[in-house]
Amino acid sequence: MQKNDKIILEITATSSEGSGIGRYEGLAVFVPQAAVGDTLKVKILKVKSNCAYGKVEQIIEPSPLRIEPDCQVFSKCGGCVYRHISYDAELQIKQQKVEDALRRIGGVDMSPQPIVSDGVCSGYRNKAQYPVAQDGSVGFFATHSHRIIPCDSCGLQPEEFSLIAKIFSFWMMTSGNKPYLEETGRGLVRHLYIRKAVATGEIMVCLVINGDRVVAADRLVQDLRAELGDSLKTVVLNVNKKKTNVILSDECKNLYGDGYIYDILCGVKIRISPLSFYQVNHDMAERLYSKAAEYAAPEGKTLLDLYCGAGTIGLSMAERAERVIGVEIIPEAIKDAEFNAAQNGIANTEFICGDAAEAAAELAKRNIKPQTVIVDPPRKGCSAELLHTIAHDFAPDTLVYVSCDPATLARDVKILNELNYEIKEYTPFDLFPRTSHVETVARLERRG
Ligand code: SAH
Repeated sequence: MQKNDKIILEITATSSEGSGIGRYEGLAVFVPQAAVGDTLKVKILKVKSNCAYGKVEQIIEPSPLRIEPDCQVFSKCGGCVYRHISYDAELQIKQQKVEDALRRIGGVDMSPQPIVSDGVCSGYRNKAQYPVAQDGSVGFFATHSHRIIPCDSCGLQPEEFSLIAKIFSFWMMTSGNKPYLEETGRGLVRHLYIRKAVATGEIMVCLVINGDRVVAADRLVQDLRAELGDSLKTVVLNVNKKKTNVILSDECKNLYGDGYIYDILCGVKIRISPLSFYQVNHDMAERLYSKAAEYAAPEGKTLLDLYCGAGTIGLSMAERAERVIGVEIIPEAIKDAEFNAAQNGIANTEFICGDAAEAAAELAKRNIKPQTVIVDPPRKGCSAELLHTIAHDFAPDTLVYVSCDPATLARDVKILNELNYEIKEYTPFDLFPRTSHVETVARLERRG
């Protein structure tokens, strides 16, 4: 097999990134937007020693799972991977992805609970970060690339976001502010970043700029207020002059409002700043946190909430717990967490800003003994050092692991198994319909 070959391929599996997989001359061939059961004519784009990559040239026999994609940029945009199959088929793939990871990597001999979904596949996101193209339009990056695919009305975003994107692009085209160009590091406006508090309707608009100010800021604020009315709570500049693909810097300046929006999650009022992590699917996050609470059984316990962001998980259980300690590395998120505890009249919490592993070691020195530990790390999972501190120094009865990457969850479950923690139950949650991502919450118990 060589580059540019055209082959006939039957798709028999799905990769964890959502590509179809077929076997040809003993080699796995990965094909995006292919479905199990397809027979395809595939053009080979790249051949490596252990696999090959291709793209669909023609559908010879469509899979029964197929549906007509309802997005014009699906074939180019790097966001969604499952717009060509039914949502039921997608849920099954995600259920299987979690199970496969836990069995193969984690050595877990147990199936997950049925994947939880509210069936809402459009408009579910509360956050968008659009790169700005050279003509002032916005879009999304293509798969594995920083080429901008123009798109101001994404089906995953709330309707207001496309209105904001249009107002912003018109302003870019008429205000004299230059879009940033990644290759040269020149130009000013890098990203349009929007957040919405779903329960209150409050909206935050943030411009990420390679400079200290924009011209005609007042007109942008006026135009946004004219369309959005009172739901526009704040407009913020984020000053990012670094030549990096990290979107946000830690420097924010308010153009309008106080830089915050307020949401309600699991009955707790949550202040969100531009820099704090906040789950992008509000309604499904509530379900995820309810399951985490069921697994944590916080009644009367000291709860340690590691990787706590704005404190959301711990605060949702604080009323039932004896005491909650949260740890998070981003200072603004810790300020939000402290503010959130105070504004909800929750007095049994303490938040620590620092690396989870280091803070855990400090807490162990203070002789803190949480009965339940919750971890909710980023995709790379927990460090082995942190898992050792949890198992040896805290030795909680229960460990609840909230994960956005089944592979690192599985790796950590395996380590924890050796540290005397046995997985008892795990449940996948579809917080990101149409994309390849899936969340999982797992309950582990100390043996003996
Ligand atoms: N539990 C929160 C946030 C989860 S996202 C929620 O549900 O909203 C993961 C969080 O871990 C982010 O807020 C990120 O800033 C934080 N984080 C990343 N690396 C960290 C580290 N080494 N130590 C502590 N927190 C970290």
